[in-house]
Amino acid sequence: MASLLGRAGVGGLRLIDRDYVEPSNLQRQSLFDEADAAESLPKAIAAARKIAAFNSEIVVEPKVEDLIPGNIEVLLEGIDLILDGTDNFETRYLINDYAVDRSVPWVYCAAVGSYAVTLNIFPAETACLACIFPDSPGGLVETCETAGILNSAVNLVASIAATEALKFLVGGSEARTLRRTLLAFDLWSNEHAEISAAKPRVGCRACGARDFLHLAGEGRPHITLCGRNSVQIHERKRPIDLSEMDQRLRPHGTVRHNDFVLKFWREPYEMTLFPDGRAIIKGTTDIAVARSLYARYVGT
Ligand SMILES: [Zn+2]
Repeated sequence: MASLLGRAGVGGLRLIDRDYVEPSNLQRQSLFDEADAAESLPKAIAAARKIAAFNSEIVVEPKVEDLIPGNIEVLLEGIDLILDGTDNFETRYLINDYAVDRSVPWVYCAAVGSYAVTLNIFPAETACLACIFPDSPGGLVETCETAGILNSAVNLVASIAATEALKFLVGGSEARTLRRTLLAFDLWSNEHAEISAAKPRVGCRACGARDFLHLAGEGRPHITLCGRNSVQIHERKRPIDLSEMDQRLRPHGTVRHNDFVLKFWREPYEMTLFPDGRAIIKGTTDIAVARSLYARYVGT
């Protein structure tokens, strides 16, 4: 999506991503290459570099952050349109609450297996995400790890969403050709379906009752990421000096760092540490294990 919009000449893109590039991403994330994965570059940084290489005139703001209730107002400030490149419903419900509350349009996008789905949301005009999915649809969240993702499903949903974004950016939400349906496509079985999303659902928690429970949430100290055996820890407020931490961890395992991330290997675990104190611990899905590794090597 960022590639399509950047090449189309959209003047400004803010890229928010908490993750770093891994070899397993290259199968479908077409902005990245092996050098990015070898460096473990944060995705937002790697994407901004690639976009600058093909269009140096647009403003790209990379933000290596986990979008949470505590930072969403700052991270999305001044944004005309939000595009969903996330992989989890927790973040999508947070975006939906924010977008409905502030009347910012957004485009929901998801892909799993060979299945792609997208919905344009114009708050107060059309259905919001909570109108359609009052609770997270289990099939879309849980199957990611086992099903994998067909790269053309990702590219299809990105192409549709980027096109809808361009229609909105040139014509506003009144643009006649903007889709007002939930569109689902299964590229393998050639099945597709559209259901109307032209009107908000009566009694919707978010756009009807304006109960923004995800926006009011206290953030998420631990998250198990989709698609891999890992836990994210986000509980430090104090920034970390990666060079200093590199020295400290050296006696305990293999360490490597650059300006954006530090990686620490201690069998069977791999810890990736960001300057804001956030960590992704690979090799476990047990929150208690991840917590204790963090406490032992980073601090409490
Ligand atoms: Zn709604």
